[in-house]
Amino acid sequence: MHIKKHLGFSGLRKMLSKRFLQVEDARDADKTEYRLHDFFMTGFAMMYFQEPSLLTFQRRLQKGCNCNNLKTMFSIESIPKDTQFRDVLDQAPLNKLEVIFSDYLHQLQSNKYLEHYQFLDGRYLIPIDGSQYFSSKKICCPGCLTKQSKGKIRYHHQILQAVIVHPDMKQVLLLAPEPIQNKDGSTKQDCEINAGKRILSKIKKAHPKLKAIITGDGLYSKQPFCFLLTTV
Ligand SMILES: [Zn+2]
Repeated sequence: MHIKKHLGFSGLRKMLSKRFLQVEDARDADKTEYRLHDFFMTGFAMMYFQEPSLLTFQRRLQKGCNCNNLKTMFSIESIPKDTQFRDVLDQAPLNKLEVIFSDYLHQLQSNKYLEHYQFLDGRYLIPIDGSQYFSSKKICCPGCLTKQSKGKIRYHHQILQAVIVHPDMKQVLLLAPEPIQNKDGSTKQDCEINAGKRILSKIKKAHPKLKAIITGDGLYSKQPFCFLLTTV
């Protein structure tokens, strides 16, 4: 299927760049060498090139591979050093970036592309599922989920992802993810089902008119969650 130009890479890059520039930088201005925008864009570039790891990506950058490409393709003024990269992204206010997911979906909607994803009676199929992306016995932060086994504690980070899919469409469309992590001062651990409740209201808030069919695994087959589905 032909995709209009502004829905392609350069449109996406411009959209991301605009939103990245709007994120307020809470860092001390005297100590910041690189724009927050450039950290986000470098992260996007890493995903775009499907680099298997942050480390190999940064090694390649240090050797000068792709540097010029990166600067022009991704409007990056200067490429952040590896040591700062992780620290800055870890501290960044990711909820401020959620609007990007809606921006893109609205673009698809206004260009009549989204309607190709209608699955049943004008409704969109939205599977939700959690996945773990960090696990360690040693490294932890206040947001870590913890699990005890054989007297040892393991630390985790998980994310809940919702996507719009259609059996005939190759691409899946991402909605804003919901982190599954502990909040400051909370005595109870966060869990996927609670994140599921939060993601439902987030989807509703961002796309009030989107008719959805939400699917999930057995974890979600509980009365409170099913009830919530009928009310959102
Ligand atoms: Zn953590």
